[in-house]
Amino acid sequence: MNEFKNFIEEIIDSDLASGKVSEVCTRFPPEPNGYLHIGHAKSLCINFGIKAKYGGKCNLRFDDTNPSKEDVEYVESIKSDIEWLGFSWDKLLFASDYFDVMFDCAVRLIKKGLAYVSDETAEEIRERRGTLYEPGIESPYRNRSVEENLKLFYEMRDGVYPDGAKVLRARIDMASPNLNMRDPVIYRVLHATHHNTGDKWCIYPMYDFAHPIEDAHEGITHSICTLEFEDHRPLYDWVVRECEFPEPLPQQIEFARLNITNTIMSKRYLKKLVDEGKVLGWDDPRMPTLSGIRRRGYPPEAIRDFCERIGVSKANSEVQASYLESCVRDNLNRTANRVMAVFDPLKVVLTNYEGSELVQVENNGNAETLTFRQVPFSKILYIDRSDFALTPPPKYYRLKPDGYVRLKGAYIIHFDEALTDSDGSVVELHCSIVPNSKSGEDTSGIKVKGVIQWVDAATCVDVTVRKLQSLLTDAVDGVIDFNERFNADSMQVVTAKVERSLLSAKAEDRFQFMRVGYYVLDRDSKADKLVFNEIVSLKDSFNPTK
Ligand code: ATP
Ligand code: MG
Repeated sequence: MNEFKNFIEEIIDSDLASGKVSEVCTRFPPEPNGYLHIGHAKSLCINFGIKAKYGGKCNLRFDDTNPSKEDVEYVESIKSDIEWLGFSWDKLLFASDYFDVMFDCAVRLIKKGLAYVSDETAEEIRERRGTLYEPGIESPYRNRSVEENLKLFYEMRDGVYPDGAKVLRARIDMASPNLNMRDPVIYRVLHATHHNTGDKWCIYPMYDFAHPIEDAHEGITHSICTLEFEDHRPLYDWVVRECEFPEPLPQQIEFARLNITNTIMSKRYLKKLVDEGKVLGWDDPRMPTLSGIRRRGYPPEAIRDFCERIGVSKANSEVQASYLESCVRDNLNRTANRVMAVFDPLKVVLTNYEGSELVQVENNGNAETLTFRQVPFSKILYIDRSDFALTPPPKYYRLKPDGYVRLKGAYIIHFDEALTDSDGSVVELHCSIVPNSKSGEDTSGIKVKGVIQWVDAATCVDVTVRKLQSLLTDAVDGVIDFNERFNADSMQVVTAKVERSLLSAKAEDRFQFMRVGYYVLDRDSKADKLVFNEIVSLKDSFNPTK
């Protein structure tokens, strides 16, 4: 972790120094209405990062105060995604467990003359709310007595009223310049079954009332959220103060949410893609969900590294998708073993070689300790068609007429002859190995500039490879609507021949297919049919000055 402090850490430092707080406690509060995405990773890294940095605590709290859109499937996925990212929460909590606390807080506000039951429709409330330039109009129910309010609120709880018939409003200030303070609705009637509390409640608290209570009740010291809640902070402070929670009261701090080019962060749109069958599921390797990114082969360390590098700020901006890819590539360059795969096979017969042997090929020249594997080698091989040219362009260092090339980990070969079919396209090469040119014991004296990958025809395996692109095409000509930008060709399925060693790979194992890109074994693989997802290409397109 670097020594530079972001603005959130500066606030925490000063709260610790002044004695306002003695232990730092944060929380990650997802609403279980979808899977976590890369944007959530940023919030996770901030909240759990603070826990680690200050030796504090971080709770995982499901913000499940809205019964209609939530589901246990999401709860389970969120837990496993957080663990996969490498974080462990202190308490696992559900906001719905606090419904009694919230109810009591509402009663307390009513008794203090700070909340009232209103019979206005949503429409009427909106109309009377005023604008940024005009104050609002007071509700005709604003001056109901405490007794009447208590009676009506209990009746709301007891199911006397249908949905929408009554709401509980905080009694703050209809002339406040902040519209959120103009008697906001804090409870509504909703006859809905909740995934946690079942049919116990038919009134549910609104987010702006529930969230501060959850934080205060749990002893959260710093409640970190995204910028769109900045204008809600006065209400947050009002709620914790007027509900008379003990000191230290939680402090809301806002930061800029993460946006990434060509990446959808709207749960609603992601859910639509899943529901319409446009993707394989929430964990489709093209999805920006954490489960999708995981299946795509992005290492959790690379995601944490990315969040650290982009930093925390108060200004909204868009990060290039290639920056995330570049963090992934940095990680894989150090950690992924190199193997050989041929996507467009061209048969090579080594005319002066008989029998077979095992050659030693290094796994990763960038790893801290060098390891090797044995790769079968024999008379007939496949190389990639692009590594041979009958009429080569200038500076072509691969196989060409009268040229030499080194087969990675094996021998230098010389091109002798190309066999063509009736159309004149090359179908087979005849080559000869250079005596005494074996890798590691080369005394041939021949210098070659090109090293290419190959697979042994007798033992290689055919595999399926998914080449992946963004689910969204670039926004051109002002078309920013996600529906119009859906990239229907974002998954291209091709085949490749790979070396036999990959048969022992497990799902989520990551490799560099030498000279091609990084690939991960997908869980759709069967023993006789491996499936790989493309993680990232080898070439970095990230331009830090853009
Ligand atoms: P929705 O409003 O559709 O429920 P959400 O993105 O707000 O979606 P939450 O489950 O409420 O989802 O988010 C949990 C936490 O993650 C919140 O604290 C939220 O601020 C944070 N978060 C969500 N999206 C991003 C993002 N793109 N960048 C940073 N933080 C995010
Ligand atoms: Mg939300």
